[in-house]
Amino acid sequence: ATKTFHSLRPPIDLPPEDAPISAVDYVSSLRATLPWRDDDSVALINSVTGLRVSFSELTRRTNSLASYLQNVTRLSKNDTAFVLSTNSIEIPILYFSLLSLGVIISPANPVHTESEISRQIQLSNPVIAFAMSSAVHKLPKLKHRTILIDSPEFDSMTMSWNSKHELDRAKVCQSDVAAIMYSSGTTGRVKGVMLTHRNLTAAVASSFASSPKRESPAVMLFTMPYFHIYGLFFCFRAAALMETAVVMQRFDLKMMLKAVEEFRVTHAAVTPPIVVAMSKGGSTDGYDLSSLETVACGAAPLGKDTIMAFASKLPKVVLVQLSCVVARLLTMKAYGLTESTAGVFRTVGPDECRRWGSTGRLSAGLEAKIVDPETGDSLPPGKEGELWIRGPTIMKGYVGEPEVTSATLLPDGWMRTGDLCYIDEDGFLFIVDRLKDLIKYKGYQVAPAELEHLLLSHREVADAAVIPYPDEEAGQMPMAFVVRQPHSSLNEAEIMEFVARQVSPYKKIRRVAFINAIPKSAAGKILRMELRKVAVPSGSSC
Ligand code: AMP
Repeated sequence: ATKTFHSLRPPIDLPPEDAPISAVDYVSSLRATLPWRDDDSVALINSVTGLRVSFSELTRRTNSLASYLQNVTRLSKNDTAFVLSTNSIEIPILYFSLLSLGVIISPANPVHTESEISRQIQLSNPVIAFAMSSAVHKLPKLKHRTILIDSPEFDSMTMSWNSKHELDRAKVCQSDVAAIMYSSGTTGRVKGVMLTHRNLTAAVASSFASSPKRESPAVMLFTMPYFHIYGLFFCFRAAALMETAVVMQRFDLKMMLKAVEEFRVTHAAVTPPIVVAMSKGGSTDGYDLSSLETVACGAAPLGKDTIMAFASKLPKVVLVQLSCVVARLLTMKAYGLTESTAGVFRTVGPDECRRWGSTGRLSAGLEAKIVDPETGDSLPPGKEGELWIRGPTIMKGYVGEPEVTSATLLPDGWMRTGDLCYIDEDGFLFIVDRLKDLIKYKGYQVAPAELEHLLLSHREVADAAVIPYPDEEAGQMPMAFVVRQPHSSLNEAEIMEFVARQVSPYKKIRRVAFINAIPKSAAGKILRMELRKVAVPSGSSC
C-alpha cells in the first residue's frame, strides 16, 4: 500500500504560480506585516568596519543598482549573472537587484579552480559576472563585462542611479528561474540546480510562519556563505523577518566573539571546530556574550563531550545542529538539499527538538515518501528506504540536463533525495545513510565521479574509486582506492598531490589505499558500499 506523509504544520498561503510577484516582492510584503517593522533598523553590518546599512537604505541601494544594471549594463529578464565572491554586505544588495529585474543569479565559491569555474559557467551561460577582485582572474572571458564587487565603481552604482533613471519594473513571475546553484545531485559531476522565485518564496514563507515571535528582531552573525543555498536562503529570511545580519567575510573565533559583544548578536551559525574552541576553558573569557541565544552548528556531527562542555559553559545558549546528533540535548535540527531550497524537515519548538536523533518533521506544504530502492514500493512508518519529497520548494530541474532531471524529478513532482531514511509514527525523520555518491566535507559537496575522473587521467593509475571516510571534525573526507598500472611505484603522497593541484582545497583526497581491483557490479558500477566496509570495518559512519 502506498504511504504518503503529509506536513502536520499549518498550511501556508502562497501566491499562484503565474502571479507576477518576484521572491524579492514577496519578502517585502512579509516585512510589511511585522509588528516590529521599522525601516530605519539595521539590515546589514560589516563585522570588520562596523559599517551599517538600514532597511530603507538597502531598498534604496537595491533600486539604484537595479536601475544602473537595467539602463547602463542593459541586463534584462532571464539573463544570467555569475557571482564569485566571499561574503560581504554588497552581496544581498546585488542579489535583490538582479532578482528584482528577473536576472538569474548563479553564485559560486571563489576557492574553486579555474577549470571548476569554467564548468559552472558552461552550465549557467552567464552574460555578466560580478566578482571580488582577488578571484576575478579565475573567470574565463565572458561575452559581456565583469564588474568588481569591491570597487568604488560598484559602490557608486548602488548609491546614485535611482535619481537619474527610471526603473522599468520587469514582470517577474513566480515560475521564473531565480537562481542556478551548483550541486552534484545524486551522482556524477556538478550540475546547475534551477530554483524558481516560487521555490524561494515558499522556503521563506514556511520559515517565516514557524519563526518564534520575538520582542525585537534577531541579530544574526552571518558566516554561512552567500554562494551556498543556506546563505542565499538566510539572506531572504533575514530580510523578511527584518533581522540584522552581521556579515563576516572570513571566520575567526576572536573576530566572532568580538562581533557578538560589539553588535549584541543573538544568533550565530558556526562549524564544529568553533564550538570545540568555545567549549574550551578560557577561550571566551573577557567577552560579553550575554546577548547570545542560539548557536547553530552545521556541516559535521559534534562529539557528545563537546556538546556537554558547551552546555555547561554557556548554559543559556541553545545549540542548534544542522547535522547528525549525538547527544540528548535541546538541539534544533534541519534536513535539506540544494535541490529543495531549504529545510524540508526541521524541528520547531522544544518538544520537537527533544526527539533524539531526528532531524524533525516535514515543513509546511511538503509531502514525503520512503521508497524501497529495490521494488519502488512506498513503505510504512519505521521502515528504511530512499526519501522522496514533493512540494513548492523543490527545484525546477538541472539546467541543460533533461535526462538527469527526469531521473531525479519524476513527472508527478516527486524528487528522489538519494538519502536512506525512515519516518516514525509521529512523522519524525531519521537519516540513516546516503545512497547517493556524495561526500560532504565540512558541509561542502565533493562528487566522487569528479575525483575518479581526475585519478584516471594519471598515466600510472589503472582504475580508481572514491568513497567517503568518516572524520570527527569534517564529517566525511574523500578517500581514494587506487589500482596502479603494472610496475608503477606511485605512492600515496604523489596521488594526493596530483589531485590537490587540480581541485578546490575542500575536494582534496585525504586518504589513499591501494587495491588489486575495484569491486564492480555486472553492469560496471563501482560497489562503493564494499569499499566503505574495507575502509572502516566497524561500519561506523555519519
Ligand atoms: P547540499 O545540497 O549541499 O545541501 O547537500 C544535501 C545533502 O546533505 C542531503 O541530501 C544529505 O545527504 C545531507 N544532509 C542535509 N542535511 C542533513 C542532516 N541534517 N543530517 C545529515 N545529512 C544531511
